[in-house]
Amino acid sequence: MLTRQDPKNGEALSALGFGCMRLPAKQGATDDEKAAALLRSAIEVGVDYFDTAFVYGMGRNETLLGKALAGGLRDRVKIATKLPPYLISKLDAAKKMLATELARLQTDYLDVYLVHMLMDKAMFDRLVAMGLFEWLEAQKAAGVVRRIGFSFHGGKADFEELLHAYPWDIVQIQYNYLDENSQATRSGLQLAGRLGIPVVVMEPLRGGQLVADLPPEVEKAFREAHPDWSPAEWALRWLWDQPEVTVVLSGMGSDEQLAENVRIASDARPGSLTDADRQVFERVKEILLAKTKVPCTACAYCMPCPYGVDIPGCFQHVNELHRTGGKANRMKYAQALGALSARPGFASMCTECGKCETKCPQKIEIRKELKGVAKEMEGPLFRPIVNVARLVMKSGTMKKGVEKHG
Ligand code: SF4
Ligand code: SF4
Repeated sequence: MLTRQDPKNGEALSALGFGCMRLPAKQGATDDEKAAALLRSAIEVGVDYFDTAFVYGMGRNETLLGKALAGGLRDRVKIATKLPPYLISKLDAAKKMLATELARLQTDYLDVYLVHMLMDKAMFDRLVAMGLFEWLEAQKAAGVVRRIGFSFHGGKADFEELLHAYPWDIVQIQYNYLDENSQATRSGLQLAGRLGIPVVVMEPLRGGQLVADLPPEVEKAFREAHPDWSPAEWALRWLWDQPEVTVVLSGMGSDEQLAENVRIASDARPGSLTDADRQVFERVKEILLAKTKVPCTACAYCMPCPYGVDIPGCFQHVNELHRTGGKANRMKYAQALGALSARPGFASMCTECGKCETKCPQKIEIRKELKGVAKEMEGPLFRPIVNVARLVMKSGTMKKGVEKHG
């Protein structure tokens, strides 16, 4: 495993970090045993940076990481977690959150404490007025927090303004070859580099979009240039090619993914891509951008929808449809969104209440896009057909119940 130096304090950090937002799951819930085993295996192969957040898994992911590290592993790794400013209006709430996070993580210090989804200078100013940074600095002086930073999902101008607003110890941005010119952008990354701020990258595979169901033209372009590199390897190498990237977080779900990422992270050095490789990325980007309908990364910050819509699930289907250029697979959409379950999540269930939109880091017009999904994936007869299928299923189940109980 290659390491990269934190430009602020010279400490070596593993180039690959473990993103603990999406941990291995079984039947819709985190598979605690598998997740803990995978987290421990990652440490054994050299991963020493683990990123989580107060809100991930409604708090369960911090607890799980704490359990996985208990028994002597804590001091072998760096823990990064996040304070959600959108849930606090008073400093006391932040104090309670930090105490909760330390307890969940079974530790008395955090290597990195990030203000989660800091959007712009106005939000920063509100937190300054609240006394948040003064308090964080006191935590740093006491050794409870070792680095103060922020995670970011806004636009380039806000990012650059925020970089200059405070002597940050670290920042975390969404960055991948498809987002080179969106959100913080390459120039924002380079500004952080010039300011000597380490940069942690999240969404390196854009929530799986840069790996799954790629158009055949993209797979061909990759294969012709490097037959032995997978799409994930291309995406990760693009990041590690850039010297300003300190740690790349990957939300690994299996031993195979971990092994592949570690192999790449043991070889991908800054400046290792060739001009020919870079041209392949330009071609691939053109193809993908032309086919991406909704720039959803499946982060699920917009969830839960009070009316049950599975927002990222809806966008995943419409994006797959546009990427592959096929016909809408309404059966697959219906099944995946729980047509026959107690809680379906169709796009057409959206009441346009708007509660989700302010939470979306990609600033997606969710209501408008869901209307498009309903039009493309459902059509006028979809709901009546699903309702009939549900009735049939229900009566079948009841019949079976009658037969069983005689
Ligand atoms: S706008 Fe639609 S999808 Fe968003 S929270 Fe409201 S009902 Fe759910
Ligand atoms: S709609 Fe936005 S908040 Fe919701 S999953 Fe997609 S990117 Fe995340």
